Amino acid sequence: LGYRLVRLIRRQNSVQGELLLAQEQLLDMNLALRSQALEDGLTGLANRRLLDQFLLDELGRAKRDHLVVGLLMIDIDHFKHFNDTYGHLLGDECLKAIGALIKDNIRRPGDLASRYGGEEFAVVLPGTDLTGAFVVAEQIRQAVAGAQIHSDRGAPIRVTISLGVSAIRPLQNDTPEMLIQAADKALYAAKAAGRNRTMMAS
Ligand code: GH3
Ligand code: MG
Ligand code: MG
Repeated sequence: LGYRLVRLIRRQNSVQGELLLAQEQLLDMNLALRSQALEDGLTGLANRRLLDQFLLDELGRAKRDHLVVGLLMIDIDHFKHFNDTYGHLLGDECLKAIGALIKDNIRRPGDLASRYGGEEFAVVLPGTDLTGAFVVAEQIRQAVAGAQIHSDRGAPIRVTISLGVSAIRPLQNDTPEMLIQAADKALYAAKAAGRNRTMMAS
């Protein structure tokens, strides 16, 4: 009986070990899945899904604490022409490089840089007003304008971006869409005014 008991306990131990291992693997997989679901695969920035949730959360917090939230909408200038001239692969490299420059130029740990879609980026700056957001936008714009994209052939390429800036101290009924629309409108004005510039929402 003693012998069988020892054998049973040993088997139980080994089964428990396997279960623990499987559980650890599941936790790892969940972590990877969660970050993939919220991260843009190309640039490593937050994806649209995370941006939407983040904006909603930050506006909620700003309403409770009477804080301001700044937003930058960023669009690459003449990017269709870039793709047509240098190819989609270098276009993707360009998106990565600009994503990295955006990330390099936001300072506060609470800021969020995201890929809004195709060749558009959005940056949320909690606690930053219109003037402060404009300063950040100009830093990003100048960093991109001063950078070069290197291709296998020919001279280094320069790319520019246009930016629209908005900020809101939200009241109860204010929504993320209002902040996005205001920045989008300013971005459109920046394009119309000649590109490679930042415009503030009026
Ligand atoms: P504008 O200065 O007015 O913004 O001109 P644009 O050509 O940048 O604007 P438009 O919106 O007409 O074109 C966007 C182009 O961006 C279309 C497509 O070729 C390119 N694009 C969008 N998403 C991607 C992507 O994931 N990879 C690459 N390589 N190109 C993309
Ligand atoms: Mg666009
Ligand atoms: Mg564009």
